[in-house]
Amino acid sequence: MNASREYDCLVTGGAGFIGSHLCELLLKRGESVLVLDDLSTGNLSNLDCCSGNDAFRLVIGSVLDEVLTRGLVNQCSRVFHLAAAVGVENIIRQPVETIETNVKGTENILLAAEVDNIPVFIASTSEVYGKSESIPFREDGDIVLGATSRSRWSYACSKAIDEFLALAYHKDKGLPVTIGRLFNTVGPRQSGRYGMVLPRFIAQALAGEPITVYGDGVQTRCFSLVNEVVSAIVAIAMNPDATGRVVNIGSTRELSIMELARKVIRVSGSSSSIQVIPYEEAYPDDFEDMRRRAPDVTLLRQLAGSVPEAEIEDIIRKIIDTIQ
Ligand code: UDP
Repeated sequence: MNASREYDCLVTGGAGFIGSHLCELLLKRGESVLVLDDLSTGNLSNLDCCSGNDAFRLVIGSVLDEVLTRGLVNQCSRVFHLAAAVGVENIIRQPVETIETNVKGTENILLAAEVDNIPVFIASTSEVYGKSESIPFREDGDIVLGATSRSRWSYACSKAIDEFLALAYHKDKGLPVTIGRLFNTVGPRQSGRYGMVLPRFIAQALAGEPITVYGDGVQTRCFSLVNEVVSAIVAIAMNPDATGRVVNIGSTRELSIMELARKVIRVSGSSSSIQVIPYEEAYPDDFEDMRRRAPDVTLLRQLAGSVPEAEIEDIIRKIIDTIQ
């Protein structure tokens, strides 16, 4: 740790689902952790695992607050920037907030980090690949986004701007940045409130309600256990060879949403039925879904030494165990 700085790590969005698991891991590794979170989608209870630890402090506030952000970045030797708009439903409902939080928030972090050349990890997303059909997605592959009239794409576009900006700070100013494109991350503490499919399916299965599969259910995703994802984040953030690079963080276990529904029913022993809901009923008019999404993990394996590999059945069991 840099002796002049009070904390090893600043985690923005640390009260969120992924952020809280990251804080837990960093504390376990002996790092001190300062969190900045506005609790908009994060939750104090996510940090029960950290509060009480002398090496941990939470500041409730926004990355949009430039002065606050600068003050906190200044106290830390490294930044993990995870604060962002979350969840497809949320994003469609709050398009202005999504774009401003993602773009301005990241700009504030980079501006603050540049002052003392503090290393920054930026959490980006597989949404950036958009409708690309070049499966598996490689970091240097083209991105294919839909029309600007379809608000879903504002999320991908705002994250792509974050990536451009971070890489520009690296190229122009030598700032050590690393970008992780996170694929579908699941596990304990994830809320279904913002549209995420697995916590929804599990809640429906446990309540004996129909499992709501949108569209034809043939669309696929690769789900990774959050603990493996945060280990990968730390590994690439701390690997100097990853500096200035974009790295996919995800699993290669591709699964259709219909198969996911069946597995949730099987593992939970639920009597739920599967209800197929057309996209027009599930989302507003202008919605477009991705048919397939799967990462190329060559770079992740090279830079982190391993890739997320937990089986979906084990993940489902783990989540159920924490809520029952
Ligand atoms: N989905 C679904 N039922 C739900 C919520 C989501 O079938 O109750 C579908 C959604 O349309 C998408 C997939 O599950 O095809 C993954 O959705 P999620 O919002 O979790 O993540 P993303 O679309 O960002 O991959």
